[in-house]
Amino acid sequence: MDNSNNAHLQPLLGMTLEQLQGVVKELGMPRFTATQLAEWLYTHRADNFEAMNNISKANRHKLASRYSVGRYAPMHEQRSVDGTVKYLFATADGKAVESVYIPDGDRATLCISSQKGCRMGCTFCMTGRQGYHGNLTAAEIINQVMSIPESLSLTNVVFMGMGEPMDNVDAVLQVIDVLTAKWGLAWSPKRITVSSIGKMPELRRLLDETSVHIAISVHSPFHAEREKLMPVERAFAVSDVMKLLSGYDFAHQRRLSVEYIMWGGLNDDAAHADSLVKLLRHVDSRVNLIRFHAIPGSPLRTSSEENMVAFRDRLNEQGIICTIRRSRGEDIFAACGMLAGKVNDNQQH
Ligand code: SF4
Repeated sequence: MDNSNNAHLQPLLGMTLEQLQGVVKELGMPRFTATQLAEWLYTHRADNFEAMNNISKANRHKLASRYSVGRYAPMHEQRSVDGTVKYLFATADGKAVESVYIPDGDRATLCISSQKGCRMGCTFCMTGRQGYHGNLTAAEIINQVMSIPESLSLTNVVFMGMGEPMDNVDAVLQVIDVLTAKWGLAWSPKRITVSSIGKMPELRRLLDETSVHIAISVHSPFHAEREKLMPVERAFAVSDVMKLLSGYDFAHQRRLSVEYIMWGGLNDDAAHADSLVKLLRHVDSRVNLIRFHAIPGSPLRTSSEENMVAFRDRLNEQGIICTIRRSRGEDIFAACGMLAGKVNDNQQH
């Protein structure tokens, strides 16, 4: 690794082939050097310029004087008893973000962060409480995928870590391009899921410009209640988000999941289940019920197993595929809504 994240040099990692062509042109190098660079970065996964031995020494020096490769290892890791691993990555400005590696049978998923903190202010979320400290660059996002020790065995990536991916849509779209392009990691888009709370204009771009799976955090079918939990509802009502989604095909290659965190006595009764069914009547989706993980200082309670099962069954009876998602990494605060990204937090648990 070149551990150059803290350096002032601009990283090449995360650049598209077109952007690499711009770099080599600016440095007066032949156009094919861009293709070679893409191969070194994404196929051979080089982490330093010296390794790039089909590029002349003089050109490697020129590149190194202006750019870094951009690969750097996580600075900290915590392993859960269930095999989940939480990695902490430093960012160029001295902050930290988290990625969670989740092995599950023949699947190995990495949950990645797209922002340092988050400004969406969802009241139940530890990341939201931490506030917003800026966007991650495309380099910082793709580095999470490429620099964990299990990188080569990953089968899936989900943008469900810290931040609202649609609040950093340009970088997220660029990373999806790198992950799926032939000159990049050449993954099928079916291996990628992007989660959003429903920032509509950017969500529309994601829907139009990619074919990745989509996960929408709903958490309540009722406007007034959802607004209290998720201020985004004020700007983009979940009913409008569903209207937008109903114009896309989720019955074939592309999947739509609806994420629903369950809180005891708040959103886990029959009236919520029936309204959720109504909300979803024009979209092909499957619902994931997520157990709420108590976070320090929050009055929100976990829903009982009994209520979760009854809620799931009520949805299933009305024709909606619904499952209760198994919690992973709770003992290391790696489960949904628990990522805060402070070194101190990690040291506490
Ligand atoms: Fe941000 Fe997602 Fe947390 Fe809401 S739930 S504050 S969008 S990270």
